[in-house]
Amino acid sequence: ENTIVWFRRDLRLVDLPTLLAAADSARNALAVFVLDPALIKPSGVRRRTALIACLNSLDEALDGRLLVVRGNPVEIIPDLARRIEATQVHISSDHGPYGTRRDAAVEQHIPLVRTGSPFAIAPGRIVKDDGTAYRVFTPFYKRWLDHGWRAPASTSASTNSWIDPAAVTGVERAELPANVKPVCPVGEHAAREQWDEYLANGVDQYKEHRDRPDLDDTTRMSVHLKWGTIHPRTMLADLRDHDSDSARELRRQLAWRDFYADVLAREPRSARHNLNPDFDRMPISTDTPEAQVLLAAWKAGRTGYPIVDAGMRQLLHEGWMHNRVRMIVASFLVKDLHLPWWWGARFFMRHLVDGDLPANQHGWQWVAGSGTDAAPYFRIFNPITQGQRYDPQGDYVRRWVPELREIPGKEVHTVGQRGIEVPGYPAPIVDHAVERREALARYEHVKQAR
Ligand code: FAD
Repeated sequence: ENTIVWFRRDLRLVDLPTLLAAADSARNALAVFVLDPALIKPSGVRRRTALIACLNSLDEALDGRLLVVRGNPVEIIPDLARRIEATQVHISSDHGPYGTRRDAAVEQHIPLVRTGSPFAIAPGRIVKDDGTAYRVFTPFYKRWLDHGWRAPASTSASTNSWIDPAAVTGVERAELPANVKPVCPVGEHAAREQWDEYLANGVDQYKEHRDRPDLDDTTRMSVHLKWGTIHPRTMLADLRDHDSDSARELRRQLAWRDFYADVLAREPRSARHNLNPDFDRMPISTDTPEAQVLLAAWKAGRTGYPIVDAGMRQLLHEGWMHNRVRMIVASFLVKDLHLPWWWGARFFMRHLVDGDLPANQHGWQWVAGSGTDAAPYFRIFNPITQGQRYDPQGDYVRRWVPELREIPGKEVHTVGQRGIEVPGYPAPIVDHAVERREALARYEHVKQAR
């Protein structure tokens, strides 16, 4: 008898409890990844490329024993199980809306053995005293800290005896391009290297620097966490050795990742709809030609608001954007352009190399005021003062908006307001002061719902 280890968002061999569970079953294991068109198609080229590079690196670590198949896992996984006479399939659990449905469908045909999850603490585990879920981060975070997390599991390629996929007949192996060039180094080895480097040289400044896109000094581990080439538990264990405010702040950010996954697992609808239904009453003008023009300017980084444009161009160029700037551009779309947050969220998901449904949809909803936490709608980001505060010398803007490279210092944030015409750079497409009032007027409709 054999077994299957079905890799999904856990493309690593170190600290992967699924491998221990498969080894405990004392069976030879077939390592499988299914390229599922339902997930691959909406991914965007950057995330797809990163995925392929991660798979190549996993295959290499497994000495060429990763079987990659293209198609619907609901058919493929039971079929493979039949072919190798496996009576169960090992996975780490998936809590997203699609993954939950898919796994339930696979389970109709073959038992799934779930061990671990991509989170420090799996969704559903952190509950209030009365057993209900948290909707506000800070109390969730306190519970999360009290709960604690497991120590990393000691696993490696040699934990299991792997079946050679060439021995599985009648299955079409997907040929992955060998020389893909992801926008940043990915794979288990790259993740570990990047994290070690950050622990040695970056972590002590995290708290002070994390809001400064010009300094670009956050971990950039999001892409690795996305594909599970490192587990957050590994990172949390390493952070224990750093007794500093910065290490604690970074730990708190990792708790946000768990928090949003928990919220989405409990309310799968919130991937597409306002978590707070009062916001369904918010007037949004989606079907006017003007809405499309404004959306196009935002997407292209041509709004005339330098910090917004710099962020959108970083997204287009790198497939990544600094967290502070993600908040600024999201606020601009929702509160200055009065467009639906899900339009922005969809664009982000297409372009982000770290695009991750819970963090993205709930990051957007947090900004839009319709999501978790007490982020009051009426606290509206001013893109000028945000730029001046978090990019104080204007270096971030000049890095991403070449038209503004000749404008020195923080003056770069106010070209539009001072009426300075810069060749090739647009004048502000809206007036922030006017749109702020408009946003507040629209918010009255939401308040009436209460
Ligand atoms: P660091 O500051 O080094 O943080 C370390 C890790 O903590 C991150 O890699 C991430 O896993 C986690 N983390 C940090 N901040 C958050 C947060 N606010 N919510 C959830 N997890 C967090 N993050 C994604 O991973 N994928 C997304 O698609 C995504 N979309 C976002 C959309 C919007 C509108 C906003 C405001 C935030 C979004 N975030 C998303 C959260 C955050 O911006 C990124 O995780 C972060 O910028 C990634 O860079 P980093 O790894 O250097 O972060």
